[in-house]
Amino acid sequence: MGRRVVVVGAGQAGASLTAKLRDLGHDGSIALIGDEPDPPYQRPPLSKKYLLGEMERERLYLKPERFYAEHDIALIKGEPVIGIDRSRQEVITAAQRVPYDVLALTTGSRPRLLPKEMGGDLEGVYAVRTLADTDAMADAFRPEHRVLIVGGGYIGLEAAAVARARGLHTVLIEAAPRILGRVAAPETADYFRALHRNNGVDLREGVGLRRLVGDGRVREAHLADGAVLEIDFAVIGIGIDPAAELAEAAGLTIDNGIAVDGRCQTSDPAIFAAGDCASFPWEGGRIRLESVQNAIDQAEHAAAVIEGAETDYRPVPWFWSDQYAARLQIAGLNTGYDRIITRPGLREGSQSVWYFRGERFLAVDAMSDPKSYMQGKRWLEAGASPPPDALADPDRALKSLV
Ligand code: FAD
Repeated sequence: MGRRVVVVGAGQAGASLTAKLRDLGHDGSIALIGDEPDPPYQRPPLSKKYLLGEMERERLYLKPERFYAEHDIALIKGEPVIGIDRSRQEVITAAQRVPYDVLALTTGSRPRLLPKEMGGDLEGVYAVRTLADTDAMADAFRPEHRVLIVGGGYIGLEAAAVARARGLHTVLIEAAPRILGRVAAPETADYFRALHRNNGVDLREGVGLRRLVGDGRVREAHLADGAVLEIDFAVIGIGIDPAAELAEAAGLTIDNGIAVDGRCQTSDPAIFAAGDCASFPWEGGRIRLESVQNAIDQAEHAAAVIEGAETDYRPVPWFWSDQYAARLQIAGLNTGYDRIITRPGLREGSQSVWYFRGERFLAVDAMSDPKSYMQGKRWLEAGASPPPDALADPDRALKSLV
């Protein structure tokens, strides 16, 4: 009899891992256990097309529901896993104990919520993580409404773009000195600040939220600079934390998420982890990526190791974000950069921001500039670096540089 694989967390990584296992010919049983009511679905449209009302619910699903049965994957929905019994090799839900030979944790991450003392429990205060979250707030995106968006990361900026496309009065506040402070260079932030202001967002940086106030439902936002805004609802996009509680309670090593090695194995070799919840070795340290690319690639890597592969996970990360008509594409990781080169794109509104450490090319942010993104990605895959000074010359064609 083949080994029994149980995967906890039926999201992007869980769906990829189980499908890949079957692809690779896994002949034991596979169970995919999730706490949400829907089959695994893609999250990016939740703050983009789906929130705009331009995408059907079923199109969010990563595979049609029948796929799982057809591939002999037991999909268990709406059933939170509440514990792992490592000595008996069983996962525990309120209804059952499911035995495993190999366990994979793909539990994703959870949005940071506004604390109750700051009005986080008022009606009309929304996070954006699940389909249920987006369904709950969709009706509030009406032209006559005023929205406050808290947080100038990608989720907050995307929600602001949807709000403006729907004609709402939109204020976005960022407590840090600038938007995208954690993830992008000032040059990229400048591009998106201008884009949002040109589209009518009242974007305020260096301004925190003191609290939201209301009579059960949110009515006002009191900002740290003393301003008081009348609002109809608020969207909170202040970051996420890895969903690592299960792993922690089971005694696995935690280090900015569930710590795995290059093989996606946790401190218990029978337990793997992948996706948003897992941190993995990277350039002498450890990183955790919050992206579709990583969820898929790391999960597929874990599946390959479960089936006997002995290689380490070496991603070339990529990410995208859609705001208005602009598409940001990122290749690579900019961690540790000390030099920035910007290049105008060929079309109006297109631009690229290139990150270097010394002479080494690390990453590119390409704004409505797919050619720069593709070229940057190719260089990263080949381990090549264009000379920064030549790259800075807009008259030099990218292809001529390496
Ligand atoms: P998830 O997809 O979150 O899946 C984890 C699943 O595990 C969830 O269903 C969760 O409920 C479940 N779970 C957790 N604990 C338990 C438990 N104890 N028992 C059972 N089930 C459990 N990435 C991009 O690259 N580009 C984008 O443009 C982009 N946009 C995004 C927009 C939004 C609104 C959001 C929320 C994310 C976006 N991302 C984007 C990030 C991307 O969606 C995530 O990185 C990806 O979904 C991670 O996959 P995952 O499988 O690790 O986690």
